[in-house]
Amino acid sequence: MGKASRDKRDIYYRKAKEEGWRARSAFKLLQIDEEFNIFEGVKRVVDLCAAPGSWSQVLSRKLYLPAKLSPVTKDDDLPLIVAIDLQPMAPIEGVIQVQGDITNVKTAEVVIRHFDGCKADLVVCDGAPDVTGLHDMDEFVQSQLILAGLTIVTHILKEGGKFIAKIFRGKDTSLLYCQLKLFFTEVTFAKPKSSRNSSIEAFAVCENYSPPEGFNEKDLHRLLEKVGSPSGTEDLDCSSGWLEGPNKVYIPFLACGDLSGYDSDRSYPLPKAADGSYQCLDPIQPPIAPPYKRALEMKKASSQGIHNLDKLSLGP
Ligand code: SAM
Repeated sequence: MGKASRDKRDIYYRKAKEEGWRARSAFKLLQIDEEFNIFEGVKRVVDLCAAPGSWSQVLSRKLYLPAKLSPVTKDDDLPLIVAIDLQPMAPIEGVIQVQGDITNVKTAEVVIRHFDGCKADLVVCDGAPDVTGLHDMDEFVQSQLILAGLTIVTHILKEGGKFIAKIFRGKDTSLLYCQLKLFFTEVTFAKPKSSRNSSIEAFAVCENYSPPEGFNEKDLHRLLEKVGSPSGTEDLDCSSGWLEGPNKVYIPFLACGDLSGYDSDRSYPLPKAADGSYQCLDPIQPPIAPPYKRALEMKKASSQGIHNLDKLSLGP
């Protein structure tokens, strides 16, 4: 697909470049905020799986920059934003970056250290594995990322805090809902207008963190496994008996964002300059070291007739 035709077919991709966002995903977080007001009163936040950084940009623009520009905010009171990803990310004002795997306990420890004993008000996770197209497999790997996010949540989110996580809707969605419901009094699955209808992606918006009484973070996985087993926790058993008839678990599902606004599944005409031409903008910030970087270098080298891979420059 050419650059201009992508601009035509993906209005949020074009708008992201016009408004200076690194990725169209920025609109998803903004639209979730329109519906759920997730940034209200937030001083400390963690952005899991943050690269290339459009959600971190939203956090910086919504939380850090207004506080920094305010004459009444002291330096000590500036919001703390910590962003983590496997990939390196170009700097963003007011965002502390940690490069690491969120499923690794060491990464979780680094994040926790940044909070220096304080708790976060909000944890967001837009993590996605490399999608295979096999829905069951993608849904499973995605749920593992959410559980890694939940592990970090149980260590650093304050009571009453919020957790927003990307999910893939599939046959285990009800189980995931019940697992999240163990820790949050309100769980809604939301579909922002900027997320294509053709995609199985949605977002779990979890509000009011209230872990079970006496909860010990070490017991997280044991507790989650109990949900869905016949002897599971009494009030939130998603085992088959509960999913049928009058006891079926109904998951609140909400479309969000300005519903009369842009439709991500539609093509829009390109705005033309006076001379009838269209100026296509470059992406704001290409990934610094994407996983496909070496593949691109190999392809380029082969088109230049270089077949000895040792001769390939692996510059930054
Ligand atoms: N929210 C980002 C933004 O607005 O720019 C986009 C996130 S992108 C859809 C998904 C990210 O998840 C990728 O950058 C990928 O490196 C990251 N990711 C996947 N698995 C991860 C893991 N185990 N630990 C850390 N990051 C991970």
